[in-house]
Amino acid sequence: MTGYLTKLMRDLEAPVEVRRFGSGWFAGFFALLFAVSGFAMVVALRFPAVLTTPELQIVRDWPGFRAAIHALLLTSHALALLSLLLRPRKVLGMSALMIGLGAALLGGAKVQGADTQGWGLFFGLDFFIVNLLASGFMFAPLERFAPHRREQRLFRQEWREDLFYFLVSSMFVQVLAFLTLAPSQIVNANTSNWEAFRAAVASLPWVVQFLIVLVASDFLQYWYHRLFHQVPFLWGFHAIHHSARSMDWLAGSRMHLVEVILLRAVTSLPLFTLGFSASVMQAYLGFIYVWSSLLHANVGGNFNQLGAWVATPRFHHWHHGLEREAFDVNFAIHFPWIDRLFGTYHLPKDRWPENYGIPEDVPHGYGGQFLYPWRRTGKKTDEV
Ligand SMILES: [Zn+2]
Ligand SMILES: [Zn+2]
Repeated sequence: MTGYLTKLMRDLEAPVEVRRFGSGWFAGFFALLFAVSGFAMVVALRFPAVLTTPELQIVRDWPGFRAAIHALLLTSHALALLSLLLRPRKVLGMSALMIGLGAALLGGAKVQGADTQGWGLFFGLDFFIVNLLASGFMFAPLERFAPHRREQRLFRQEWREDLFYFLVSSMFVQVLAFLTLAPSQIVNANTSNWEAFRAAVASLPWVVQFLIVLVASDFLQYWYHRLFHQVPFLWGFHAIHHSARSMDWLAGSRMHLVEVILLRAVTSLPLFTLGFSASVMQAYLGFIYVWSSLLHANVGGNFNQLGAWVATPRFHHWHHGLEREAFDVNFAIHFPWIDRLFGTYHLPKDRWPENYGIPEDVPHGYGGQFLYPWRRTGKKTDEV
């Protein structure tokens, strides 16, 4: 099994020469992508109480949804056959076929939900798929047509780790939302004397509310972020995010779970309690997801003027630079002028950092990285 997976990974990461157009690689890749997505959707329909996100119920009830899954699985099947025809290595096409077969055995697009009510906790498997497809279709072409590093590939070093981070944060979207929203509900319930203020905020035009949320959250995020760079114990968590040696849209997902929860709580708690419309906050949460993928994306363009006011990929790439001049700069994620205000701005004209990462050894793999903040401080005390 492990040998088979290694073979599959090796073919996914094959050098550009053996995955050019016509080699069957693209057919195999999309066959596999569609098969895995179709399989996951069938599984999500089969076990609705366990694996699905209630907010996406409306999508699942749409009559075209099952037809779309059917079309997805059929396309996957056709592409898999094409890949098997074209490609000397059969591992991509065969894997897609087997996974598609698995989806068909489970009932395919006609699958009926098994009775598993009352689990209480759901994992957003469907959210992960929707999220991955949407982000992938948005950023993969962008990185291909306007890259900063042309030679960097989609399946670059450590992509599996980052995909796992993406999976974890998507799967636990419900749990994370609860952990960050519960405190704000308590605050709201106990501060009824702020009602007039909240009403005034809610009466502002939508766009104005959205802009205030962007500026306010970036100020909070700036100091939160700076603190995580300066306090050694907190740095242990944030070091995971900085351990990425390649930058692309997936790399931004690499973040310690504790930091994700705290970050969301700290930046959204005040905003959830000040009376902003629910739709503004929802739009902001969606926006931040896409925005942070864009900032990490392997997307070129120097934007020397614009970059002084609005964060660009180059601005945030400097935050991830391995060289000395890139240490502790560019903490803002929306507005570089916040960094200028507090003296941490660094955006040399037309230049990009040479390398990404940090000069300390962060372990590979999710488990080791999860324990890293505690092990790291433990090591330090031993040395002292
Ligand atoms: Zn940082
Ligand atoms: Zn980052």
